[in-house]
Amino acid sequence: MSIDHGRHFLQVPGPTNVPERVMRAIAAPTIDHRSPTFKQFAGSLLERLPRAFRTDSPVVVFAGSGTGAWEASLVNTCSPGDRVLMFETGHFSMLWHDLARRFGLDVDYVSGNWRSGVDAEILADKLAADSDRQIKAVAVVHNETSTGVTSDIGAVRRALDDADHPALLLVDVISSLGSIDVRCADWGIDVAVGGSQKGLMLPPGLGLNAISEKARTASKTATLPRAFWDWQGILEANGDGLFPFTPAINMLFGLKEAFDMFDEMGWDNVLARHVRHGAAAREAVAAWGLELQPANPSEYSDALTVVRMPEGHSGDALRGVILDAYEMSLGAGLGKLADRVFRIGHMGAFNDLMLAGSLAGVEMGLARARVPFRKGGVQAALNMLAEPPTEKARAAAE
Ligand code: PLP
Repeated sequence: MSIDHGRHFLQVPGPTNVPERVMRAIAAPTIDHRSPTFKQFAGSLLERLPRAFRTDSPVVVFAGSGTGAWEASLVNTCSPGDRVLMFETGHFSMLWHDLARRFGLDVDYVSGNWRSGVDAEILADKLAADSDRQIKAVAVVHNETSTGVTSDIGAVRRALDDADHPALLLVDVISSLGSIDVRCADWGIDVAVGGSQKGLMLPPGLGLNAISEKARTASKTATLPRAFWDWQGILEANGDGLFPFTPAINMLFGLKEAFDMFDEMGWDNVLARHVRHGAAAREAVAAWGLELQPANPSEYSDALTVVRMPEGHSGDALRGVILDAYEMSLGAGLGKLADRVFRIGHMGAFNDLMLAGSLAGVEMGLARARVPFRKGGVQAALNMLAEPPTEKARAAAE
C-alpha cells in the first residue's frame, strides 16, 4: 500500500480516465426511458452519434461491452457457414476470430506476427483468388490495442474496390474511436464496432455499431440467430427516440456530455492531441533505448504505446513495482505478449502533464525494477511537448 496520497494514474489503454463533467452527468437522477423527456433527449443524441464515426449512417447503441458489439456486427450480417476473412494483428483480432468461429462462420484467419497490421497485398491476393465471390465479409481491427499497431483501413478499402469485391467491411474501431481518425463514409466501412471506455471518455458499458445501408440490407437476409443484438427492432424504436429494452440511461447522459466536450474541443483538435502525445511517448521510449512492439513507423498507434521488455525482464513485475510505488496502472501484455510488453494508454481525457506524469512513473519504475535502460526519456518527451504541434498533428486537425 502506497503511503502517498493523491490521484491514481489510470494509464491502461481502456478503460480510460473519465472527466468530472461526464461523471457528474452520469450521476444525474435516472429518468423514465418512455417519457417525453427521454424521447427528446435520446432522439437528439442519436442524431449526433454518426459524427464520431464520420458517417451519416445510423449508430446503434447497446448496453454491453465491445465484445457484444463485435457479436452484433457478425450476427446481423452473416449466415451459418459464411466465409469471413480476418487478419491476425494481435490479441483482439484473435478474440473476434474465436467469436466468429463459435457462430459457425468459416473464418480464413491470415496469420500475423503481432508487430504489423493488416497486409493489404495479402488481402488483394485473397480477394483476387475468390473468383466466385464466396467471401461475405472482411473483418479487421483498426487499432490493435494489444500491440499498438494501427492498420491502414483506407488501403483495405482500396483493395476491395480494386478487386471489385462485394464483401462487407467490418472494422473494430473500439480503441480508435475518439482518438484516431475513423472515416466510415470515406473508407466504406459497413459496420464499425465501437465501445464507450476508450477514446469516448466514458466508463465501460456501451457497445456501438455504425451501420451502412449495405449492411442493413445484408441484415434482412442474414440468418445467424440473434435476439438482443438484432439491429432491426432497435433502429425502428430509435426512430421515435425509444429503445425496445431499458437502455443504459445514465450512460447515455454521460455520452451526451462527452459529445458536448468533443464539440467544444473540436473533434479534429482531439485527434491532433493524440498524434502529439503518441509522438512524445515514442520519443521517450527511444531515449530509454527500449524497443516498440510495432515494427513499422507508418503503423504506430497514437492512442497507446506498447513497449517490449528487454530479454529476461518481466513486464508484469515492472507493472507491479510501478503500481505499488507510484499508484499507476499500466496495461499488461495480452495473449502471446503476456509479460513480454507493457502498454501505456494515452487516449481519452488526457493532457500534457498527465503524459509527463505517466512517463515519469515509467522511468522511475524502470530504475526501481532494475530494468536496463537509459535515463532521459521524460526529458526527451518534455522537449517535444514544449514545441508547437508537429506537421502531422496539424494535418490531422485539418
Ligand atoms: N477490440 C479492441 C481493439 C479492444 O481494445 C477491446 C478491449 O480492450 C475489445 C475489442 C473488447 O472490448 P470489451 O473488453 O469492451 O468487450
